[in-house]
Amino acid sequence: MFDVILRACRHPILYSGVRRITTLTFKEKIHETGDIYSFIFTAANLPSWQAGQHSIFTIPARPVEGKTWRPFSVASSPHENEIRIGTIVSAEPSSFKHHLSTLNPGDKIRMFGPYGELYITKKMRHVVGVAGGIGITPFRSIIADLAKNPTDTKLTLIYSAREGQHAYRGDLEKWREQNPNIEIIYTTTPEEVNAELAKQVEAYKNDAHYLLSGPPKMIEALCSKLSESGIAKDHVLNDPFKGY
Ligand SMILES: Cc1cc2nc3c(=O)[nH]c(=O)nc-3n(C[C@H](O)[C@H](O)[C@H](O)COP(=O)(O)OP(=O)(O)OC[C@H]3O[C@@H](n4cnc5c(N)ncnc54)[C@H](O)[C@@H]3O)c2cc1C
Repeated sequence: MFDVILRACRHPILYSGVRRITTLTFKEKIHETGDIYSFIFTAANLPSWQAGQHSIFTIPARPVEGKTWRPFSVASSPHENEIRIGTIVSAEPSSFKHHLSTLNPGDKIRMFGPYGELYITKKMRHVVGVAGGIGITPFRSIIADLAKNPTDTKLTLIYSAREGQHAYRGDLEKWREQNPNIEIIYTTTPEEVNAELAKQVEAYKNDAHYLLSGPPKMIEALCSKLSESGIAKDHVLNDPFKGY
């Protein structure tokens, strides 16, 4: 929470989006791979957002125990006209995820946002993305958006997940074929991620911006590596998925 407040103080406009509250209607739950599921919601009037941003979600009609809210990246892109949450639901989920997972079509939840700084701006000529596991969610949105609205920006995404557990791979490949500026490198180990990132840093240095998303430990390690390699702080944007 302290981290979020700090970021909001640094980027008050980007974070002011959290004040926008939208009631969402649950449409369907989709099994992606392993214990990863997508939850699809619609709304009469969806707010505008930048592909890659996240929101805070609550389920007011359910008796959620403990922390009653969770931040999730919006895994859909604005043109898909729906809100998609992609998350892990384990065999013994938290109370929040139990209630998310047992929603019935038509049930309502509440969304605060979207907001946040993990998105591609016009000044970014080359973007190197790293997604660790479920950290793929903001990149699903970003890549869908780049496929629909191609720009001159080149995106190289290093997507790391356990063998056979690369969620959304079918969608990502379809969109990659629509925009030659998108490259996706699938990896399965931290060593491969480090090696692929080192190649990108060597090739693009501070001409690139680095967008990182996934477990906090992974983000911390990658930020240190980028800093040691001389990458400027303002060329690194990250969403540590606290809770993993
Ligand atoms: C910007 C952002 C975007 C995110 N996007 C996604 C997404 O797209 N998909 C996704 O699955 N998850 C995402 N997360 C993480 C998500 O909010 C949940 O924390 C996560 O899914 C685990 O939820 P849970 O209910 O299973 O476990 P939880 O009950 O939330 O937590 C599991 C463990 O983590 C600890 N914990 C929880 N929150 C914090 C915190 N803030 N700081 C320190 N420790 C904590 C708990 O004490 C517990 O031990 C995102 C987080 C952030 C900050």
